[in-house]
Amino acid sequence: MKTFEFQHAVTVDGAICSVLDSGGAFLAGGTNLVDLMKNGVAQPPALVDIRHLGLTSVTATASGGVRIGAGVSNSALANHPLIRTQYPVLSQAILSGATTQLRNMATVGGNLLQRTRCPYFMQIEFDQCNKRVPGSGCAALEGFNREHALFGASEHCVAINPSDMAVALTILDAVVCTQGPDGVRQIPIAQFHTLPGDAPQHENCLLPAELIVAVELPPSPYASHSWYLKLRDRRSYAFALVSAAVGVEVVDDVIASASVALGGVAAKPWRVPAAEQILVGSRPDDSVLRAAAQRAMADARPLSQNAFKVQLGRGAVHRALARALELTR
Ligand code: SF4
Repeated sequence: MKTFEFQHAVTVDGAICSVLDSGGAFLAGGTNLVDLMKNGVAQPPALVDIRHLGLTSVTATASGGVRIGAGVSNSALANHPLIRTQYPVLSQAILSGATTQLRNMATVGGNLLQRTRCPYFMQIEFDQCNKRVPGSGCAALEGFNREHALFGASEHCVAINPSDMAVALTILDAVVCTQGPDGVRQIPIAQFHTLPGDAPQHENCLLPAELIVAVELPPSPYASHSWYLKLRDRRSYAFALVSAAVGVEVVDDVIASASVALGGVAAKPWRVPAAEQILVGSRPDDSVLRAAAQRAMADARPLSQNAFKVQLGRGAVHRALARALELTR
């Protein structure tokens, strides 16, 4: 590992100044960043420790939502009573990821910033990876791509975002609250992660030294009817091949509102409004759920090895909707 400076920050302003001055990186749980530093993918000249900035509370907001500090651990968030009762799909998504030990260390802010696990990105022995070395090519296009994107990819990168939590946050219309050298911002989760285009090295809209300080959730209509379903090669400690987060609001036996997002299929959580439109206004029967699932995957563009994920996606959306609506157990 390349040597680096280590600094402890005691205020948010101080942390931002330290990263701006050093060109370094914020360090919270470190569960992804430190791995990347060990294998040479990330080489920040400095790490600024942000674990003692007081960003560790989960509080109800006046509007009936919740504000989650960016330093809250994944375990604490998944098990928080407010989240378990009002946003159970978020608890499910978080608990489906990693291991207990990793969830105890990993934070909300870090989870949103975790990098792709594309093997060509993760191992510096591979020469071609536009995300790691811009302009070098994309080895996955002609190589191993069974786990890669179905939506929103480009000829420069077909990697996926590995976060489970972000998929659930997407159907809950979360807002990412940041503070940076130019002030504070509130960024809708749908606009936070970016598609690869011709610059896959950029994965989100954060500016240099901009720090995630919190995530806010509006009141959810989906507390009673939601589900997160993750399909993967093995049952634990594996990233999603495909996942589906769904929320459905039922009024007088009619679907009044719905939210559907896919994970493991794009460089960002992939919301599918066209599937939601099929659900809204319909009675919740199996044919409607199947039609929504079919529509959710209709625009998929498989690569040479991952066409199987299209069928997995249809199954994930259908099963998640059925579980959310308690049409099946
Ligand atoms: Fe690199 Fe993206 Fe291609 Fe993977 S898919 S090799 S991360 S450019």
